[in-house]
Amino acid sequence: MQAMLKEASVLGSKILDFILPFRCPVSGELVDHRGGLSPEIWSALDFIPDSICQICGVPMPPAYENIEVFEDMKCEHCNDNPPAYDMARARLKYSDTSRKLILKFKHGDQLHLVHSLTPFLTQAAIPFLTKCDLVLPVPLHPLRLLKRKYNQAAILAHAFAAQHKIAYAPDMLVRTKHTKPQTGNKINRKSNVKNAFSVNPNNKITLNGLNVILIDDVFTTGSTANACAKVLKEAGAHKIFVLSVTRVHHE
Ligand SMILES: [Zn+2]
Repeated sequence: MQAMLKEASVLGSKILDFILPFRCPVSGELVDHRGGLSPEIWSALDFIPDSICQICGVPMPPAYENIEVFEDMKCEHCNDNPPAYDMARARLKYSDTSRKLILKFKHGDQLHLVHSLTPFLTQAAIPFLTKCDLVLPVPLHPLRLLKRKYNQAAILAHAFAAQHKIAYAPDMLVRTKHTKPQTGNKINRKSNVKNAFSVNPNNKITLNGLNVILIDDVFTTGSTANACAKVLKEAGAHKIFVLSVTRVHHE
């Protein structure tokens, strides 16, 4: 009887696969694998080029694109005020289409979108993927977590860490200040996140000498990443690589 029930449930899930085929989370069109994006949505995505600041990852002006080696490319901001993190990378520019993906994931309870977004993280992580010991999400303040029910950065970080078999420490960083939603210019954002993060004193993992990947869904001005990297380095972390799906490009 139990074997029959098991068979029935296997058959049931096969039927579900058959009657619920995979759909693009943005256009709703049929796609051939879970998390797949339809060709129309895929072609509307705006990918970040190779020609970027090697620290913060901001696309550099076209005038720089003739340089074949990008190793020493540094934007003015990183040159004048080097951030606490070592490298920040994202795969997509924050455009209409990538914004739709992120907003559905963040506010639309469409957590299955993690399957669409994780491959972008993997592509963006190529420069440091083999050098890392630990994956952490940018934390939400507990009050915001209560309101939103989940931390989208933690869902991404968990999936990314599992896929690449890197240790994952969701509670390593804590958000101690309930900051306003990130709007406004760089200076406002910087003061907004000042002293907003700390390393969880109850955490069992010692950060000494570890290379850390810090994951967020969107990289905006880098103020949040910088504030997190600062406390992680103070706690002994060696290198901090910031990884995001999309990056806002300030002109
Ligand atoms: Zn830069």
